[in-house]
Amino acid sequence: MTALGLSLGTRLPWMAEAACAGRWYFTEGTIAEQKAVCRGCPVRNACAEFGLEEPTTDKTDTTVWGGLSPEERRELRRQRRRLQVIR
Ligand code: SF4
Repeated sequence: MTALGLSLGTRLPWMAEAACAGRWYFTEGTIAEQKAVCRGCPVRNACAEFGLEEPTTDKTDTTVWGGLSPEERRELRRQRRRLQVIR
């Protein structure tokens, strides 16, 4: 079960339009190569939000979601938390 309460392997409607369809979770390729695929993806925003809701504890994870690397997602989560504290 994921942080969103989804079973692993769950497919959401937007995933059908993914530019990386058939290569889910990008188990191959560098971060730059993955980002190149994401750049033209029509569901990039939905994917990025999904990735932000699924924090990884795996320090070796290099999976890109919505064009964001694991480090970029961590930083974006930190920024969002800071904004919530400020409000
Ligand atoms: S944004 Fe990238 S990881 Fe997400 S669905 Fe599109 S190609 Fe796949």
